[in-house]
Amino acid sequence: MAMSPGVTCRQCGGQMARTTRTQRNYGLQVLAAPLCLLGLAVAVTGAGMTVAATRRYAAGAQSAITHMAFDISLGVAGLFLAIGVARLGHKKQDIWRCPACGYFFERA
Ligand SMILES: [Zn+2]
Repeated sequence: MAMSPGVTCRQCGGQMARTTRTQRNYGLQVLAAPLCLLGLAVAVTGAGMTVAATRRYAAGAQSAITHMAFDISLGVAGLFLAIGVARLGHKKQDIWRCPACGYFFERA
C-alpha cells in the first residue's frame, strides 16, 4: 500500500524529492542593504538618545522620562526595520527536485 506515489520527473522519469530552495532577488538585496544600514543607524541613535535621556533624568530633569519612551521606541523600530529589511530578497520555496537531472518545480 504505497500511500505516497511520489512525483516522477518530466525530463528523465526519475523519482523527485521534496526539498526547499532559497530564491534570491538581487535587485531587492541591493535595495535592502542601505535600508538595513539605515535601520541600524536609527537603532543606534535611539539607544544613544535613551542613554542621554537616562542621564538627563538622573541629573534631575523630570521631563526626560517622557522622551525616554520615544527614544526606546525609535531604537526598537530601527532594529525591526534592520531585521525585516535584511530578510528582503530571500524567499524560501517548497519544491520538488529531481536528484538525477536537477529539474525542479514549485510545490502547490
Ligand atoms: Zn530528472
